[in-house]
Amino acid sequence: MFESLSERLSGILDKLTRRGALTEEDVNAAMREVRRALLEADVALDVVRSFTDKVRARAVGQEVIRSVTPGQQVIKIVHDTLVDMLGSDARPIDLEAPAPVAIMMVGLQGSGKTTTTAKIGLRLTARSRRKVLLASLDTRRPAAQEQLRVLGVQNEVDTLPIVAGQSPTQIAERAMTAGRLGGYDVVILDTAGRIHIDEQLMLEMAEIKRVAKPHEILLVADALTGQDAVNLAKSFDERVGLTGIVLTRMDGDGRGGAALSMRAVTGKPIKLIGVGEKADALEDFDPARIAGRILGMGDIVALVERAAQEIDVQKAAKAAQRMQKGLFDLDDLAEQLRQMEKMGGMKGMMALLPGMGKMSKELDKVDDRIVKRQIAIISSMTSKERRKPELLNASRKRRVAAGSGTRVEDINRLLKQHRQMADMMKMLGKKKGGMLGGLGSM
Ligand code: GDP
Repeated sequence: MFESLSERLSGILDKLTRRGALTEEDVNAAMREVRRALLEADVALDVVRSFTDKVRARAVGQEVIRSVTPGQQVIKIVHDTLVDMLGSDARPIDLEAPAPVAIMMVGLQGSGKTTTTAKIGLRLTARSRRKVLLASLDTRRPAAQEQLRVLGVQNEVDTLPIVAGQSPTQIAERAMTAGRLGGYDVVILDTAGRIHIDEQLMLEMAEIKRVAKPHEILLVADALTGQDAVNLAKSFDERVGLTGIVLTRMDGDGRGGAALSMRAVTGKPIKLIGVGEKADALEDFDPARIAGRILGMGDIVALVERAAQEIDVQKAAKAAQRMQKGLFDLDDLAEQLRQMEKMGGMKGMMALLPGMGKMSKELDKVDDRIVKRQIAIISSMTSKERRKPELLNASRKRRVAAGSGTRVEDINRLLKQHRQMADMMKMLGKKKGGMLGGLGSM
């Protein structure tokens, strides 16, 4: 998986690390090569463009960490941008719904849908100790229902008894009833595929969706088909609505483009990847791990992270002093946000407050992605801009928005928030021995 891309990228980035100093032209040249490598790996053009733009903008805004080389810092930026592109957070299958939770599997014929249905069934039974029922709704391919039954027997997962002559919708209804009466936690519906997407297939999917009310609708797509898999996901999402993707045949020698473009183009998370024919050949899609595999430079990434952390401690002390003087620039704000993120984000911090633990529902509404986004915005600014936010005119704001994958409105919102906080700091700083003085001695 990703071997050739990985080889190319590590070759390009390796050259950067061996230099003492980097010019903007060095970074640009490297990005041109990265761009070519990604295109050859069959990553969608738009995605490649936004990737290299982001890396470039972040590299410009990055402050220099003395204990590592600039090349190592660029590698960390490429790594983080890659993780962003892959979807940042691992998204497992969501079973948070009243039982029986229906999972609907959709996709083209031969994509590995039936195999994946059995794989997920096995994983949820063996690993998560759920009671799972599998049902094949494929009445078109004569042996399909039998294939799932055999896989069920092999993996000790229950399957819905086959009744000849029923329509897919009738089977879906029967599966959900059996799920309720049999006390199942999860019912996985393996729908029929086609060679191409056609109208009839889409109508059938919509009908099954209406009857089963699935909590997850997972598209199974063959990673070896590259951009076709991404386009397929787009079409299915528009017509049926998807909650996630499973990419199969990631064990093959595909160029990886589907995995790399999928999230950016469709906005849907890859939840799982199939890595072989056996029932246990299914893995979680973990963007950080995948980025690590692609770059093969985990040591450098960890090194830069550690170096940045050490700087953090020194910075926190300095920030406290600055705030006492009533100074508070965007670097200080970024620092606050980072500290917040380290403590598990807003949710983590609020959960620490007495009485908040019980309000887990409310906490779920707090969106930690906002904090991440705000940090990304500030990281995309130059150090001058961070010290003097008033420098940020319209064109600079557009550059920062492109670098952080946000919109100019987001930047304006952040700047406003910063101004309010800075005003507050100033006020508090003026009160001698006021609140901040008290905090400082805590
Ligand atoms: P369906 O028509 O979509 O239900 O496809 P099947 O589940 O019948 O799978 C078609 C073929 O692909 C079978 O031979 C599977 O063993 C194989 N297959 C499915 N997933 C994977 C995978 O992740 N890796 C590999 N190498 N083969 C797979």
